Amino acid sequence: MTAAVDPVVLRQKYREERDKRLRPDGIDQYVRIADLFPEYLEDPYLPVVDREPRTDHATFAFMGGGFAGLLTAARLKEAGVAGVRIVDRAGDFGGTWYWNRYPGAQCDTASFVYMPLLEETGHMPTEKYAHAPEILEHCRRIATQYGLYDDALFHTEVTRVAWDEASGAWVIETSRGDRFTATYLGLGLGPLNVPKLPGIPGMGSFGGRSFHTSRWDYEYTGGDPSGSPMTRLRDKRVGIIGTGATAVQCIPHLAHACKDLYVFQRTPSSVDVRDNRPTDSAWFGQIATPGWQLSWMENFAANQSFAFPEEDLVMDGWTDIGRRIRYRLLEAGLSELTPETIQAALEQSDFEKMDGIRARVDAIVEDPATAQSLKAWYRQLCKRPCFHDEYLQAFNLPNVHLVDTDGRGVERITPSGVVVAGEEYEVDCIVYASGFEVGTDFTRRAGFEITGRDGHTMSDHWRDGMRTMHGVHVHGFPNLFFVQTFQGANLISNVPHNLYDAARTVAMVVSHASDVKAGRVEVTAEAEEAWMELVLSGQSLLQGRDCTPGYYNNEGHPDDPRIRFFAGYPAGPSAYFQYIEAWRSDGRFEGLQFTK
Ligand code: NDP
Repeated sequence: MTAAVDPVVLRQKYREERDKRLRPDGIDQYVRIADLFPEYLEDPYLPVVDREPRTDHATFAFMGGGFAGLLTAARLKEAGVAGVRIVDRAGDFGGTWYWNRYPGAQCDTASFVYMPLLEETGHMPTEKYAHAPEILEHCRRIATQYGLYDDALFHTEVTRVAWDEASGAWVIETSRGDRFTATYLGLGLGPLNVPKLPGIPGMGSFGGRSFHTSRWDYEYTGGDPSGSPMTRLRDKRVGIIGTGATAVQCIPHLAHACKDLYVFQRTPSSVDVRDNRPTDSAWFGQIATPGWQLSWMENFAANQSFAFPEEDLVMDGWTDIGRRIRYRLLEAGLSELTPETIQAALEQSDFEKMDGIRARVDAIVEDPATAQSLKAWYRQLCKRPCFHDEYLQAFNLPNVHLVDTDGRGVERITPSGVVVAGEEYEVDCIVYASGFEVGTDFTRRAGFEITGRDGHTMSDHWRDGMRTMHGVHVHGFPNLFFVQTFQGANLISNVPHNLYDAARTVAMVVSHASDVKAGRVEVTAEAEEAWMELVLSGQSLLQGRDCTPGYYNNEGHPDDPRIRFFAGYPAGPSAYFQYIEAWRSDGRFEGLQFTK
């Protein structure tokens, strides 16, 4: 840490920057696109193909064709379950990678631990951080290999899901007139599946082209997701609103394509080194021995869990967080560790890291005022850490203009541009890099209600917050499984690892039900309650009381009681993965009831 940085001064600066951004409306500052601007949700990539409504029966219906659906279906198929049907509102498999095709999109977590089923498919990621087209193609590869296209329903929105006690099956209705049944129901809708728009006055009045980053309009911009130049922007003035992980990846591409780029910033991201590189196939040949991908995922998780493994296979900005804390704790003396010394070590290592990230801005950005505005004044995990080697450099281009709103955000949109602090910036196109809904009610994000046994709805069951056992099973909802991150490992730095694990659970539970000839499987009320007590005894993922607002802390309102339910296994991700493996493997599936 530079000598000039005093922890007391820094804490005060962080508080001031946070306070500037706190607003009473929290998540309500964003508008629900489906209500106000449904055109922003249309699929720009594939046309909707006519098909007959389905009225048949599937063994397993899974809502969502992203990694969760692909992994679960693959494991079910491997277990010999036939009749797996995936339903998605997108036109193909891919989930977030179907929708997010903005220029420069790539995974922020190393491909070797992020891309699912590399061993099973034999695919070698071409780069340490693969770009979006390769990941989308990989999703298609998995779907093809496991025969998932045969029964998939795309461009199909589920409208209603209800348990039918008489037949012991789920009844699923959709926007395409389907009304089919399924013995089992899986839900993997993704943590960031509903784009949101900021509630900026005048948005509807804009006369130019505007779109959300998750629905990129290549027709307007030219170019394509693989990085071809967006030639149609050559004479265009483009404004981009938002500077989160998405904007950090697409701004360098826009910067090189358009006549003028105005970047409207409310809070700067922390942008650390990316250091991407092509995969050396000889090296990959050596590491890719049987079981390698799970070992890599476990090693990555252990480095994120502060389990302090000696080895760090991935060695990147994410594992650096764990390495630094480990170093600090060792330095403090492990025998001296108390909650206070641990907190002090965490803070100290964070101050150093963020100081380095701010110094990186000064080293790269030539204009001192611009550099100052691009510095993040909060702890690294208050917001999603970003990693990029061309983002900050883009601000040295003469056509790129940072419009820093000093925490206040864009004031207004007019028919011809964007207003900040009373000044209008005329633009031809507005790109909303404004993120996705987090923290809103499940049914709002899903777009449908789930009615379980005795007419009990998921909205009722989760009125005071999400309730599950292991993040997978819900009492009152037989034969239903969630495949997601919360209330399990909660490993946010590698979401697919959570899904990989839950998919394994689902396949093993379904196989067991078949072995014991059970028609229904459901978690008991007691087991769900006991799990919730355990989970709530730990820390919520969405907290960050001292943090600047963002979706990690419910936009500065961490006291919303429902937020504390976004928690995980208190002992951390690695401990969870060990616990659940033991739970699955002893064959008792404690807490679940298998009945005829
Ligand atoms: P974010 O929610 O992170 O960012 C939204 C941006 O919009 C913020 O910069 C926010 O500012 C800004 N904003 C909101 N309202 C206004 C306003 N009124 N005026 C000006 N700016 C405004 O969304 P992203 O799409 O960037 O990222 C979402 C998540 O998606 C990431 O956190 C990550 O988990 C995932 N992602 C993953 C990637 C990967 O792994 N490859 C790549 C990209 C995204 P403020 O910060 O002040 O709220």
